[in-house]
Amino acid sequence: MDLYEYQGKQLFKRFGIPVSDGRPATTPAEARAAAEEIGGQVVVKAQVLTGGRGKAGGIKLADDPADAEAKASEILGLDIRGHVVRTLWIESASEIAKEYYLSITFDRGVKKPLFMFTTHGGMDIEEVAQQTPDALVRLHVDALEGFQPYQARRLIYAAGVEDPGEQKQIAAIVEKLYDAFVGTDAMLCEINPLIVTPEGDVKALDSKFTVDDNALYKHPDIAEMRDTAAADPLESLAREKGVTYVKLDGEVGILGNGAGLVMSTLDVIGLSGGQPANFCDLGGGGDAEGVVDALEVITKDPQVKSIFFNIFGGITRCDEVARGILAALERMTIEQPIVVRLDGTNAEEGRKVLADAAPAGLYVEATMLDGARRAVELSR
Ligand code: GDP
Ligand code: MN
Repeated sequence: MDLYEYQGKQLFKRFGIPVSDGRPATTPAEARAAAEEIGGQVVVKAQVLTGGRGKAGGIKLADDPADAEAKASEILGLDIRGHVVRTLWIESASEIAKEYYLSITFDRGVKKPLFMFTTHGGMDIEEVAQQTPDALVRLHVDALEGFQPYQARRLIYAAGVEDPGEQKQIAAIVEKLYDAFVGTDAMLCEINPLIVTPEGDVKALDSKFTVDDNALYKHPDIAEMRDTAAADPLESLAREKGVTYVKLDGEVGILGNGAGLVMSTLDVIGLSGGQPANFCDLGGGGDAEGVVDALEVITKDPQVKSIFFNIFGGITRCDEVARGILAALERMTIEQPIVVRLDGTNAEEGRKVLADAAPAGLYVEATMLDGARRAVELSR
C-alpha cells in the first residue's frame, strides 16, 4: 500500500525523523486556514500517489494565507499523470541550501534491506544512478544483525558529506529510517529531497512510503490511511470482501481458482475473440460464501455481459464449487448468463449437481476452450 506524502511524514514524525509543520486541506478555504495556523510562507503540495509533482505544477510556494488559498484552487483538481488532486498538504516553507537523497528498500537479489544515499538529491534517483553511478552509495543491512551505527557513518563518508553537524543529524535519521522501515513493515521508505537548511538543519522535505499489504493486519492505524475514494470502487469492494480482483476493460467476467488458471483463462477468452472484464481469483476455497462474494463484485461491473467460471479441482472439490454456485444463485439474482467448466477433483459429481438443478442461464461446458467460446458468444 502506497501512502501519500503527508501520511509518510506522519510516520516519519512518529519515528523521530524531522519534518516541517503542516496540515492537510481539501478546499482552498481549508488551505487558507492551514496557512494562517502555520504562519509565514508555506508550500502547497498536491497529494497524489505519483512522483514528480513539482515539475507537473503540483507544488507551489505561497507568501500568505490569501496566496495559499489561490494556489490551492490552482492545484486542486489538477490531473497529474492520471491522478486527480483531491487533497493538499500545506506545510511551513523551508529554505534549502542542499538537497540529498536517502532511501531504504529491499534488495530481493541479495535478500537484504538496502540503503541508498547520495548528495545528488532532489532529482530522479534513476537519473542519478545512470549519470553519476559513483555518487550513489549503496549499503545492505543484515536483517538478523539489525542496523549498526557504523553503517550510517559508512554511508555518509562514502557520499562525501563533510560537515560534522550534517553527519551527526544524517546518522540519526538513517537509524530512525531503519526503525520506521522495520517498525511499519515497509517495503520502501524514501526521502527525496532530504534537505539541509542554510542554518544547517537536516530534515525530510518529501516522503515516499510503501507498506507491505500482507502486514497491514499488524498496523490498523496505517491500514486506515488507505484512500478508498481514490481507488476503483469495485476493487475496494473486492478488498473488503477478501476477493482477489482486478478490473479490466472487456465484457466477459472471469472467475477461476488459482492465479495461474485465471491468467490462462484471460488468454483463452482473448483467443476466442473476446475480452475479459476482470481478473478474479477464488483461491483455494469454493464455498458458497466465497462464490457469492466474488459474483457480487463481478456483476457490479456494468460492462459484464457474461460470466465464465473456470474451475480446476485440486484441493478444491468441483462438487463443492457447484453447490456454491447454486447457493449463490439462490441468494442473488444474476442477469448475465454463466458458463461453467469444471475439471479435476470431483468434476463428474460437480457437473451432475449443476445438471440436476439446471438453473436458467447456466451453461456447462466440458473444456476450457469450449467454455471460453460459449462465454464470448453469450457476451455479444
Ligand atoms: P516531488 O516533485 O513529487 O518529488 O515533490 P517534492 O516534495 O520532492 O518537491 C519537489 C521540489 O519542490 C523539491 O525538490 C524542492 O526543490 C521544492 N520544494 C518543496 N518544498 C519546498 C520548500 O519548503 N521550500 C522550497 N524552497 N522548495 C520546496
Ligand atoms: Mn520528491
